[in-house]
Amino acid sequence: MGLIVIHAISLPPNRFGGPGVTQLFTNTLDPQEHPYYAGIHQLRVSAHFFIRRTGEVIQFVDPQMRAWHAGASSWRGRERCNDFSIGIELEGCDTLPFEAVQYELLADLLADLCERFPIEGITGHSDVAPGRKTDPGPYFAWGRLRRCLEALGCPQIAALIEPKGAPEELEASLMTWPFPVSGRPD
Ligand SMILES: [Zn+2]
Repeated sequence: MGLIVIHAISLPPNRFGGPGVTQLFTNTLDPQEHPYYAGIHQLRVSAHFFIRRTGEVIQFVDPQMRAWHAGASSWRGRERCNDFSIGIELEGCDTLPFEAVQYELLADLLADLCERFPIEGITGHSDVAPGRKTDPGPYFAWGRLRRCLEALGCPQIAALIEPKGAPEELEASLMTWPFPVSGRPD
């Protein structure tokens, strides 16, 4: 175990609060429920944790066990990140800000996991599967997550975060909607 991968997901896409994500990760998604589900209900995927926008943290898989969250991926030259990573999904999408409570709960969870496991890096799904995945997406404020960890007294964990994220002067705009496309970080 060496890596934590941060994701974002919403089901149906861009809709929040429903049971779709929980159903997907427990293999109970109903293909009749939504046209999009027909194409994905047979996927055997899972994540260790899911942080809802309401501040609920749900654990699906013991972090000592493998979950199927990263797919074809590589990190520091090692393929198949599922073999050595913990996957944390945030309820969110590529086009809307995340909730402040999600950053706070994610920081708490990272602090806990880094105490229990020898974590060497924290990164995004798009960083281990570039070109194939975009999550957690341009609205995810990596700098804000770093500052949450520093506020918890965990600068050593903040230092494990690999994506640089948006410049600090743009971060406030990542919490509002919409922000100017010209300000969108790479
Ligand atoms: Zn993902």
